[in-house]
This record gives sequence, C-alpha cells and structure tokens, in this order.
Amino acid sequence: MALVVQKYGGSSVGDARSVKRVAKRIAEAKRAGNDVVVVVSAMGDTTDELLDLAQQITPLPPQRELDILLTAGERISMSLLAMAITNLGVKAKSYTGQQAGLITDAVHGRARIVDVVPHRIRETLNKGQVAIVAGFQGVTQATNDVTTLGRGGSDTTAVALAAGLGADVCEIYTDVDGVFTADPRIVPAARKIEQVSYEEMLELAACGAKVLALRSVEYARRYGVPVHVRSSFSAHDGTRVVAAEKKENAMEAPIISGVAHDRSESKITVIGVPDVPGMAARIFEVVAGAGANIDMIVQNVSAAATGLTDISFTLPDGDGPATMAALTAVQGELGFDSLQFDDQIGKLSLVGAGMKSHPGVSARLFGALRDAGINIEMISTSEIRISVVTRADSLDDAVRAVHTAFELDGVDGEAVVYAGTGR
Ligand code: ASP
Ligand code: MG
Repeated sequence: MALVVQKYGGSSVGDARSVKRVAKRIAEAKRAGNDVVVVVSAMGDTTDELLDLAQQITPLPPQRELDILLTAGERISMSLLAMAITNLGVKAKSYTGQQAGLITDAVHGRARIVDVVPHRIRETLNKGQVAIVAGFQGVTQATNDVTTLGRGGSDTTAVALAAGLGADVCEIYTDVDGVFTADPRIVPAARKIEQVSYEEMLELAACGAKVLALRSVEYARRYGVPVHVRSSFSAHDGTRVVAAEKKENAMEAPIISGVAHDRSESKITVIGVPDVPGMAARIFEVVAGAGANIDMIVQNVSAAATGLTDISFTLPDGDGPATMAALTAVQGELGFDSLQFDDQIGKLSLVGAGMKSHPGVSARLFGALRDAGINIEMISTSEIRISVVTRADSLDDAVRAVHTAFELDGVDGEAVVYAGTGR
C-alpha cells in the first residue's frame, strides 16, 4: 500500500464529463489499496477567464482581491471532483489550500510555501477517504489572507503536499504522456523522455517547458520528492523526475535531454553607453529597481573611436514597460544615446547533463541554425544548457532544426497531444 499524491491539470478537468473520467481514475487508485491525495487545478481556462473578468472591472485590481478571486477556480473543481468520486461509492472530501494547511508568505500573486501542516488531510486518509485539495493557493500565517502561488502553481501544491505527507510518489497528470524532447505541439516527432534529473528538469522548466512549474521542480529537488509526469488520458508510463544519481543506465544516458523554447521574453538594448567603470552597475540597479527579472545580458566591446558600447538584456514581456520607463528617466544622468525595445524575440534552449563532458555541442547547435538560415542574436550558457535568442517568427523552425540535428526525432505520431492549448 502506497501514499500517492495525484495532481490533475485544468485540461484534464475541462468539463463535467472530464471530471467524471478523472474521478474514475482516482477511485481505481483508491480501490487498488492506496492512500490517495488529489490536487486539482481550475477547470480548463477558468483562471484566464477570471483574470479577464477582473480586467473588465479595473486595470489594476488590488492583489489581495485578485488572489481571492482566482482561488475560486480551484474551489469549483475540487468540490465537483469530490462529488463525482463519492458518486462512485468512494468517500472523498475537498479542502481549500487553507484547510489543507498550506502556509505561505504574504506576496500576493506569487506567494511561496513556507510550511505545510496537513492535519486534516491525514485525518481524512486515516478514515480511509480520498482527500481533494484545491491547488495553487494557501494562506498567510500573519494575516490569514488567502494567497496564490503564481501561474501553474498547482504543481507546487502537489509536490509540497507530497513532501509534507512523505508520499511515495507525486503523480502530475497532464494532457501529454510526459516530458518530451521538445514541445509536441511544435515538433510532432518529439520523443517522451523516460527519466530526467531534477537539474535537467529545472533548466527545461526555467527555459519555457510548461509541463511542470519551475517552483515545483525546485521544491521536489530540495525534498527529494519522486515525481511522475504522465497523461490523464492514457495509461502509458510517463516521465520520472529523479535525482541524477538515481537515473538508471546513467552511463548510456543521451547527451541531450531536450530542446525548450520561450516566446514570453523581450529584449531591451541600451545604445551608446559611455564605456567607463560603473555603467553596467548603474543600469542594472535601475532595472532591478523597476522589479524586472533579467535573463540574458550581452555587452559589446566598445568602438575604439567613440568609447561607446551597447548593452542588451532580456526580460519577461510584462516587465518591459516599467523597465523602459525607469531607464528613460535616467538617460540624462547616465548619458547613453537611446533605448530600443524588441518583443519579437524567441529563445531556444538545449538542455542535457551530457554536454558537460562532450565537446562540440555548441558547434553542432550553431551549425544546425546556420543550415536552417536562422540568425543568432544572443547566446548564453550554463553547465548543462545553451540558449540562443532568435527572431520570434523563426523560433519554431529553429526548434525543429536543432531537434533533428541532435538526433532526437522519434517516430512521428508518438507525441500525442490529448487536450489543452499548452498554456
Ligand atoms: N489554475 C492556475 C493557473 O491556471 C494554477 C494551475 O493550473 O496550476 O495557472
Ligand atoms: Mg500546468
């Protein structure tokens, strides 16, 4: 008998029929003798619809109220799911994040879990019942206010509960069969990855792979939670996310795990910056002051004749306007020529622990992009990742070219997208 935490994403519970279908799966897991805790997302695109609704009321809703509004989505799906399971003759009870003991800090909209005290969940399991928990939400200790964990945060709820309860596995049910070597929506020949290390999954999630929320992977690594990403639409085995040393056949592991892509960043270029000590420090103090989370940075050598240089960096689309305004405000003080804003960029990232010990990976990546006629605008690397920025409209071609160049293509048709929009 095992303790299993299962998380079902929005596309797995898109309508009443899907809720009933998922309920059957849960009842089966329970009848097979497991203790089952279920974390559920809001149905379909409910969260986006609630956000749209708030926008129609006011362009800048108070964060506290927005959080209360958004948690409603998960409360709808949790109660419906509990009803559906009960209907199948298995006892089930639903709990909000607050009732389930998910304590967070007070940063509305992207709160961090600081403690998990799942007394009521344990009681429910002890009574032989299934516990359903609303994902993506918690409560602050200090003020008892409801918080949300940021988009995709139900994954983090599931992993945190799995850690807090000492579960044997955290199963993340989604609309594809696991983690793929590229987004199957772009590369139909993408292959399912059997096993991936926490470190590789962190890079993939940080670089745009939406199959798991980044924070959930950080949490899983910190507490050593075994994660199994799989489809709620099939019975196939999915992808196991495990510690690097626990990967089977580590010796024969492929050099490259996968290709991630991200369309959600923009590029700002500060043109004609005086090339003197302290300039980069000032520029990025201003950028940080605007609350921007920067990613890549490139500074060119200054032209000898002018003593001026250009500095480019990437940041999330949403941070663009505030950052441009903050930099414009200090143009006189810093003495640069002008600013350029470009939201038509795309980022491709090649991830694999094997690149540490295999030379030639970058050359092959750049060669694949050259052969596809794609220009590289920026490059950055980590120990197990190479990222390049391209034009947004050539990103899909770039992903396919690189996927083929690293011999990641599998049999066409293996990568089934069962539902959802990949948001
Ligand atoms: N419903 C939330 C969202 O759409 C949380 C989640 O699905 O994980 O981001
Ligand atoms: Mg998700």
